[in-house]
Amino acid sequence: MFFSSDNASCVPPEVMDALMRANSGAEMPYGHDTIMDQVRHTVREVFEAPEAAVYLVATGTAANSLSLACLCPPWGAALCHSTAHVQMDEGNAPEFFMDGGKLVLVPGADGRMDPDALRATLGRMTPASIHNALPAALTLTNTTELGTVYSPDQIAELTAIARAADLGVHLDGARFANALVATNASPADMTWKAGVDIVTLGGTKNGLLGVEAVILFDPARATEFERRRKRGGHLFSKHRYLSAQMLAYLQDGLWLRLARQANAAAQRLARGIESIPGGRLIHPCEANIVFADVPEAAHTRARAAGASYYLNKTVDHPLGARLVTSWNTTDADVDRFLGHLRG
Ligand SMILES: *Cc1c(COP(=O)(O)O)cnc(C)c1O
Repeated sequence: MFFSSDNASCVPPEVMDALMRANSGAEMPYGHDTIMDQVRHTVREVFEAPEAAVYLVATGTAANSLSLACLCPPWGAALCHSTAHVQMDEGNAPEFFMDGGKLVLVPGADGRMDPDALRATLGRMTPASIHNALPAALTLTNTTELGTVYSPDQIAELTAIARAADLGVHLDGARFANALVATNASPADMTWKAGVDIVTLGGTKNGLLGVEAVILFDPARATEFERRRKRGGHLFSKHRYLSAQMLAYLQDGLWLRLARQANAAAQRLARGIESIPGGRLIHPCEANIVFADVPEAAHTRARAAGASYYLNKTVDHPLGARLVTSWNTTDADVDRFLGHLRG
């Protein structure tokens, strides 16, 4: 009954097998390994982007921060949702790597940026005088931090507003696979066809040991990203072990299968909580995160039985819980937890 985070789960056997296969003989270091050639090829095929530049780093914070630094100069601003991971959970790394560039918050219900609020924020910031931060980037998150997802059309609506003001667009895809299977969209529809310049494709939360891919659809940005990755200490020498994870992830649709399992477990959990007296969802459950109010006695029973999850208390939801499912959450795990909540 472990619902604290999806990165608390273990690693699927397909990925461990791929690591064992990669673990023989010599391979060139620093991303020149032959497995990385296959990763590049596979990513370009999966995203229908034959020109895309593809890099691997070990954390989502690095992936986001290095990506934003490529889009936003030290005198610039990157616009993000008020609950964005780059704002709440990355210890100012985005601002650090942007060398002075700052985040500007844009509101929106259920974790999705409101197009009118984006328009209004940009309206206030432009035309930027020499005294103001220059709006330079838009960063969106899909799956959002509140467990909802953007459709490709919703992404496109926001990126059109940003592009009209000359902003570059980054998509934080720490849970990209969960958003894809939730919408049935193709990776291309969800990214470059919807106006995204750079996507950070999460692996760790969906089963890898620790790899995120950064995909730059404009190869002209590649050299700058490479320089920034090295300068930021994120160019791995024994790179083949990163490559092997990402290749296994994308091969035979493993990434989508893992995400489907996580999303299905979250749906089961959400429907179950709604059936409990006093149980109510705080945000729609569209991927693998459930935000729900449950009665205090239910919390007490579940905690006493060993369930692990974070409380997400707010003024309006003093008994709010945040429950995250992962690729190996079973129906039995969910049902046992629901049984304790019901009492
Ligand atoms: C977890 C997460 C990240 C990456 O976090 P790291 O701990 O740096 O790997 C990035 N964005 C979102 C939305 C996340 O949930």
